[in-house]
Amino acid sequence: MTIPVHDVLIVGGGGAGLRAAIAIAETSPELSVAVVSKVYPMRSHTVSAEGGSAAVIKDEDSLDHHCNDTIGGGDWLCDQDAVELFVNEAPKELTQLEHWGCPWSREPDGSVAVRPFGGMKIKRTWFAADKTGFHMLHTLFQTSLKYDPVKRYDEWFVFDLIVQDGRCQGVAAIEQKTGRLQTIAAKAVILCTGGAGRIFPFTTNAAIKNGDGMALAYRAGVPLKDMEFVQYHPTGLPGTGILITEASRGEGGILLNKHGRRYLQDHDLGTPLDVNDPNHPQLKSMELGPRDRLSQAFYHERETGNVFEDAMGTYVHLDVTHLGEKKINKKIPFVRATAKNYAGVDCVHEPIPVRPVVHYMMGGVHTDIHGATPLPGLYAAGECACVSINGANRLGSNSLTELLVFGRRAGASAAAFAKENSVDADAVESQAQARADRIKSMYAEGKEGEGAIAEIRDALVDTTEEGAGIYREQKKLDATCEVIRELKARVKDLKVTDRSKTFNTQLTSALELEFMVDTAEALAFSAAARKESRGAHQRLDHPERDDDKYMRHSMAHRKEDGDPKIDYLDVVITRWPPGDRVYGK
Ligand SMILES: Cc1cc2nc3c(=O)[nH]c(=O)nc-3n(C[C@H](O)[C@H](O)[C@H](O)COP(=O)(O)OP(=O)(O)OC[C@H]3O[C@@H](n4cnc5c(N)ncnc54)[C@H](O)[C@@H]3O)c2cc1C
Repeated sequence: MTIPVHDVLIVGGGGAGLRAAIAIAETSPELSVAVVSKVYPMRSHTVSAEGGSAAVIKDEDSLDHHCNDTIGGGDWLCDQDAVELFVNEAPKELTQLEHWGCPWSREPDGSVAVRPFGGMKIKRTWFAADKTGFHMLHTLFQTSLKYDPVKRYDEWFVFDLIVQDGRCQGVAAIEQKTGRLQTIAAKAVILCTGGAGRIFPFTTNAAIKNGDGMALAYRAGVPLKDMEFVQYHPTGLPGTGILITEASRGEGGILLNKHGRRYLQDHDLGTPLDVNDPNHPQLKSMELGPRDRLSQAFYHERETGNVFEDAMGTYVHLDVTHLGEKKINKKIPFVRATAKNYAGVDCVHEPIPVRPVVHYMMGGVHTDIHGATPLPGLYAAGECACVSINGANRLGSNSLTELLVFGRRAGASAAAFAKENSVDADAVESQAQARADRIKSMYAEGKEGEGAIAEIRDALVDTTEEGAGIYREQKKLDATCEVIRELKARVKDLKVTDRSKTFNTQLTSALELEFMVDTAEALAFSAAARKESRGAHQRLDHPERDDDKYMRHSMAHRKEDGDPKIDYLDVVITRWPPGDRVYGK
């Protein structure tokens, strides 16, 4: 049997994966590119992004302003060389997308429209109504179709990386339609597998976001960076976790507690507030404070009994009624539809119930600014990677742009690597049997099956929320680490009772659960080791930021048996010395 061989293989058909594929096809048409995706590419999570994508475009804005907001918002954990490069390349990427057909919304004078977004002091978020991700992904997908060298493996599930002679030289995958196991060889592999919100019980993330690529890299010896930084979005629907986009607040929506008070004025969002001053900047723009601060404010309101509580759980109100029907229909039509369909509320007439929900992983596979990981031949881009431009807290609308900037860069680097290196397809093929045996062993006698998968998953998401939620402390984090130790042992023996070949979701759920446990392990142990509060990592027992000890990236290294090793890497500081996080001025 001969196996498929490609120059570059990309795992993931979302924004980052498709941008990488196009970059390679455009600049190196002689290379063969594979895009392997466990769902049809247009079902990748990028499609659900609503609010927009940030890049400097207006005269009153500047590249330095964008850097400044990103670095301050990230609580000085961003690598500043990466941020500068990102901000410089962002406008070019979004303009390129327009040339490929992305229908950016317009100002009345025909120029690209921008909206304000949390933590950004100047409006710079480009949008396509409130379906930005849908339009961006469509644009990338249709552009990728132009290029013959891009071969797609739609609905193929990657469960292992193949490392040969110290280089990543392919993947082991399942063709879900037939259940066939297949190794695919490649000179370079790029992970673009997205985030891991599903390791928490309450998330905006699609069911496919289980940290697959993070775990694959982690197992192959690549460290996961800054995994303790998990972003809660302040406005998800209670019950489902479905996102109500920040655009609703960008367009003027306000947050009210059960007493009808705009409670954010009672919390520190980064600017000392004189509530007697009606012109104070925080009063005007408090709903657009950074996401971590807004989510923390909800926590305190709940502690003091100021939130609604009923069968839906705890929540506050997001009120957009004052915007009027015309503006709501024009600027945030999807918010109206979502609130109607999933909360039974018409936001033209009533407030929407909302609560903080896990939304985004700032951490991920450790890469340099070229998307390269420490394992030769392995690259990563998009939400599964940590470059890092997001530091301790990502600013909304930076990540769609990140997919483009770093998807393109990772594509270019992987193409260059592929031109210089060969692939040993026979050696990759010789590993096929071992990979297949691994899956077959999951079918062996032993009766765990569906029930055990659900049970372990419930135990995992409960413990991440309990120990590593909006606020953390040592005792609870240690307890979470202990539960994860037990689950790591248990998940190894997971058995699959469903023998069907076609779309065996029990098998893929079991494999995803293993990914989730590994990802959660890196998160919990990194959080337990960081004894300070910074950005999204807030410790009740260490409430201050400690730059002397912790202005460094956490690096989690997996061990097959035993706890991961956590060490640190210095943050790159160029022009922005650490300061206080302020906004609204
Ligand atoms: C509801 C929502 C709204 C958002 N809104 C915004 C916004 O307005 N602005 C903004 O900047 N950001 C937003 N974000 C964040 C942003 O959309 C994501 O970070 C980004 O889209 C991730 O893109 P990606 O290409 O890295 O991964 P994804 O789009 O998640 O794609 C991952 C790909 O990897 C594939 N894959 C994963 N595992 C495997 C495997 N084992 N085998 C094979 N294939 C695999 C999947 O099939 C998929 O194709 C939002 C996120 C959510 C959840």
